[in-house]
Amino acid sequence: MRVIKPQLVRRAENGEAEVRARELEQVLEQTGEAVIVKDLNAVVTYWNREAASLYGFSAQEAVGQPLRKLHAADLSDADYARILDRIRSGKSTTANTERRRKNGDVVRVALKTTPLLDAHGKLVGEITVARDVTALHRTEEALRAAQATLEARLAAIREANRNLTREMAARRKADAAMRRNNLALAATVRQLESFHRDGEALSRMAELLQTCTQRDEAYAIVRETAAQLFPESPGSLFIYRESRDVLERAATWGSGPAPDATLAPDECWALRLGNPHFVPRRGTIRCRHAHTAADSYVCMPVQGQGQVLGLLHVALEVSPRSLRPARDAEQRLRALTDRVGPALANLKLRDALRLLALHDSLTGLYNRRYMEDALNRELHRAKRSGKPVSMIMIDIDHFKRFNDTFGHDAGDYVLSAIAKSITRNIRPSDLACRYGGEELAIVLVEAGFECAMERAEKLRIAIRETSLTHRDQTLPAPTASFGVAVYPRHGENLTDFMKAADQALYRAKQEGRDRVCAAAEATPPAS
Ligand code: GH3
Ligand code: MG
Ligand code: MG
Repeated sequence: MRVIKPQLVRRAENGEAEVRARELEQVLEQTGEAVIVKDLNAVVTYWNREAASLYGFSAQEAVGQPLRKLHAADLSDADYARILDRIRSGKSTTANTERRRKNGDVVRVALKTTPLLDAHGKLVGEITVARDVTALHRTEEALRAAQATLEARLAAIREANRNLTREMAARRKADAAMRRNNLALAATVRQLESFHRDGEALSRMAELLQTCTQRDEAYAIVRETAAQLFPESPGSLFIYRESRDVLERAATWGSGPAPDATLAPDECWALRLGNPHFVPRRGTIRCRHAHTAADSYVCMPVQGQGQVLGLLHVALEVSPRSLRPARDAEQRLRALTDRVGPALANLKLRDALRLLALHDSLTGLYNRRYMEDALNRELHRAKRSGKPVSMIMIDIDHFKRFNDTFGHDAGDYVLSAIAKSITRNIRPSDLACRYGGEELAIVLVEAGFECAMERAEKLRIAIRETSLTHRDQTLPAPTASFGVAVYPRHGENLTDFMKAADQALYRAKQEGRDRVCAAAEATPPAS
C-alpha cells in the first residue's frame, strides 16, 4: 500500500497520471476489502466501495469527515485520541475491534493500518484496510464456546472417570475386605463346627466312662475318643500301677510305632513336674520315654482325687517359639484329660471296692463267698471239660492257744503270715481263701489227686517253717492240718465235694494234727 501516493486522491496533473490513478482506484475498488485513507486529523480522504458497504456510509458521506463522525462515533475520547496518536506516529498496526455502522449495528472488523507518506517521504496520513470479521468472529466465538463446553464436558468426564476409578478402587478394596471377612467367617464356622463335634465326642466319652465297670472298656472308649479328637496326632494313654511304680501303656491311637509298653515316672518330665510338658520338633528337653523320634509331642499327667493316675502322650505340633501347641488343640487335650482323670479315679475306687467285697481284709485272701462262687463255676467247667478240680482245706492247729498265750493281735499276725506263706507257694491260677476263723481253703484248677496231695504237703512244710516274730517276741512255729479232696472223685456236687475235704481235715486233726489227709473215696451210687 505504500505505493499509493497522495496524487492518487488528488487530481492527477497530467493525463497519464490520471489514467494511472483511475486504474489504481479501480484496483482498490476490486480488492474486496474496505480501504480508507485519512489525513493526520483522521479526516477521510479516500473511502472505497467496500468501506461504504462495511460501514454504511457512502464515499460522498465519508470523504471530508473525521472518523469521529463516521464509524468511530462510539469511541471514547481517550480511544479516539489514541487513534489520532497512532495516525500521527506513522506506525503500522493491526487490530481486531468493533465499530458502529451507520444504521447502528456493531460490526467486527480486522484492521490493518499503514502510514501514508508523500513523495518526499513525509507522513501525511494513514491507510486503513478493514475486513468484516463479524461472521468469522461469531464462528470463532461459537467455536470457543463449543470448545469451552467440550472442555467442560471433558473435565466433567475426567472427573467422573477419576470418581469411577476411585469408586472402583474402593469397591475392589471393599470386595477384598468382604472376601477376607467371608474367609474369616468360614474359618469361624469351621471352628465352631469342630468345637461342637469335639464337645459331643467328649460328652459321649464322659457318659460312657461313667457307666464303665471294666478297665479295658474304659481304655477302648478313651482310645476311640482321642483318635476322633486328634486324627492327625498319634498318642497313648498310660496308667499308673501303684504296685509296680510304673506306668503301663493302656491304649494307643494313630499311626506310627507304639511307644514302650511301660515307663517309669521319673522318665517323664510331666510326671516329675506334675504339669503338662510341651516339646517342639527337635526340642532338647525331651522325656526319656520319648526317645524314639525328634518330633514334637505333649505329655499331660492325668489326675484324679489328687493323685497322678496316668499320662496322655500325644504327638501334637508344638510351636518352637511359644513352646505350646495350637490353642484349640491344647484346649481339646485338656478337656480330654479333665474327663479321663475322674473316670480313672472312679475305676480305681470300683477296683478297691471289688477287692474289698471279694477279699478278706486281714489276710488279703479271697473270702468264703467268692470262693464258693468260683468253686461252683470251676466245677461246672470241669464237668464239661472232664478235667479235675482239687481242694485243700486247712485248719491251724491249736490256734486258740496262740491267742490265749500271745494275745489276739499276735493271733492275727500269725494268720496273715500263714496266708502270705500260702500265697507264695501256690500257682496264680489257684484260688486261696479264708474260709472262716483260722480255716483256709485252696482250690486247685485242673489239678489231680497226686498234685493236690503234693501241694498240700509242700504247704504244710512251708507253714511249719514260717518264722514268726511279733513285737520283738519270737512265736513258736505254727502247724496246720490239711484235708484234700478231688472232684469228681470225692464228691460229684459242691456240697459233697466240700464235705469230703472237710471230713479229710477232721481226720487229720484226729490223727494228731500237722498232717495231710485225703478224702475217703465217694461211695458209688447203689446199682
Ligand atoms: P484245733 O483247730 O487244733 O483243734 O484247735 P484250735 O484252737 O485251733 O481250734 P478252736 O476251734 O478251738 O479255736 C479256734 C480259734 O481261732 C478260736 C478263735 O479265737 C480263733 N480265731 C478265729 N478267728 C480268729 C481271728 O480272726 N483272729 C484271731 N486272733 N483268732 C481267731
Ligand atoms: Mg477251726
Ligand atoms: Mg484250729
